[in-house]
Amino acid sequence: RWRGRRRRASIVPRMIAEQGATAPVDVWVGLGANLGEREEALRSALQRMAEWPGTRLIAVSALYASAPVDAGGPDYLNAVAHLQTTLAPLDVLQRLQAIEQGAGRERPYRNAPRTLDLDVLLYGSEVLSTPTLTVPHPRMNERAFVLLPLADLAPGLVSQAALDAVADQRITRLPLAWVADLL
Ligand code: ATP
Ligand code: CA
Ligand code: CA
Repeated sequence: RWRGRRRRASIVPRMIAEQGATAPVDVWVGLGANLGEREEALRSALQRMAEWPGTRLIAVSALYASAPVDAGGPDYLNAVAHLQTTLAPLDVLQRLQAIEQGAGRERPYRNAPRTLDLDVLLYGSEVLSTPTLTVPHPRMNERAFVLLPLADLAPGLVSQAALDAVADQRITRLPLAWVADLL
């Protein structure tokens, strides 16, 4: 009886993860790159997302330069995008991974330098844990390069306590000239 209950309970998040939402959902995507033409990789990824079916690109944060965390290599360029989409969470993830592949993303080892990294930070207020997708992103609150750009777009989603907790991380806000062309 216990095992049956547990199995049934696990079906619900999987259904949410696989089915398209009926009404558009606010999704926040974290973008990062520290190899190659970093700015161009972010710009073209945003352009691709804006072309997804059932999806609008609502806003893009400033660009940030940040030192790699738990890794070596060049500094990252980071940003956060706000989408509204009817795509299901796993569909969003698969599409983000396709964009990463198109940018030549390789995964030789954990936290390796990368041409493009696209993470689902938040999918509405969904709390999902599937083998391939966990939202909210489990490490977002440890990272200034996520919290600062997210706070640009959605101050209500980032507490002052969360910002204080990452205040020691080196990060620089850059002017973002090209974003207006994308929206
Ligand atoms: P981190 O997850 O700590 O930011 P990373 O971005 O370097 O590390 P990746 O190698 O890009 O990690 O991704 C590893 C796996 O994480 C992916 O194959 C994907 O299935 C899984 N994953 C789980 N939750 C998410 C999420 N919210 N966004 C993106 N990928 C996720
Ligand atoms: Ca990441
Ligand atoms: Ca990732």
